[in-house]
Amino acid sequence: MKDNIVTVKHLSFTYKDSKVPAVNDISFSIPRGSWTTLVGHNGSGKSTIARLLDGILLPNDNPRTVINVDGIELTEKTMWDIRDRVGIVFQNPDNQFVGATVEDDVAFGLENRQVSRSKMQTIVHDVLEQVDMLDFQKSEPQYLSGGQKQRVAIAGILAIGPKLIILDESTSMLDPAGKAKILSLIRDLQNKNGLTIFSITHDINEAVQADQMLVLDKGKLLASGSPREIFENEVLIKSAGLELPLFYKVKNELIKKGIHIPREVNSEEKLVKYLC
Ligand code: ADP
Repeated sequence: MKDNIVTVKHLSFTYKDSKVPAVNDISFSIPRGSWTTLVGHNGSGKSTIARLLDGILLPNDNPRTVINVDGIELTEKTMWDIRDRVGIVFQNPDNQFVGATVEDDVAFGLENRQVSRSKMQTIVHDVLEQVDMLDFQKSEPQYLSGGQKQRVAIAGILAIGPKLIILDESTSMLDPAGKAKILSLIRDLQNKNGLTIFSITHDINEAVQADQMLVLDKGKLLASGSPREIFENEVLIKSAGLELPLFYKVKNELIKKGIHIPREVNSEEKLVKYLC
């Protein structure tokens, strides 16, 4: 049987002053060690799902709702256990700092958990090395670039030893170089550390790199599958109003010209050969 780190069944959530559910009876699972990405229009419920998976919000309007993270069912009693297993990185790098220096900031979660000083120093050193920010440990966060700030935010999360990292539009405010570095870090965390990644993004060229995609529309799950399954389904793409990633745009143009593209051509690098 497949090992899912997250299982969500009949998830619904309605904000207090709203009559319409932000998330409406959706079910999905996230395989352990995968990179799953959630896409959809503004207001489709993506951030609400991220906050529910981290136990920041609790399901409130469907008694059938089940959220299970790493074998623990989310309830008011278990939300702190879930928060130890899930780390969330938000969109705006400037809103996430609590420490005066990078190392203070990374140590914050450990201080709250009463970790000893020497153990804390080792962990802070290790996680800053992992995100390639060791040279900045004494720096004040406000002087860092957006990408560096997001890497420090990720280090603070890694320090707690999570199993699932949620990135809620975490690359959307970064320049291309900062974004590329975060994406390569995500892949390392997934492949070397065995972490599960759940990313929310508007960037379709980022989404196409994930293992699994969930497509959300007005609080409903429209589709789930591999990026290939999603992007080769033209009807779905149109109804979800999704843009096609560059790879699929070029591939479709070549197919229209009568050029046969074998299935194993699955990257822009390989596709470029057919343009020559
Ligand atoms: P997305 O992340 O896809 O943009 P959200 O999860 O932020 O979507 O929002 C889903 C719906 O819930 C939207 O209609 C939004 O207006 C509403 N919503 C989000 N946050 C709140 C809130 N704190 N109070 C009331 N309604 C909210």
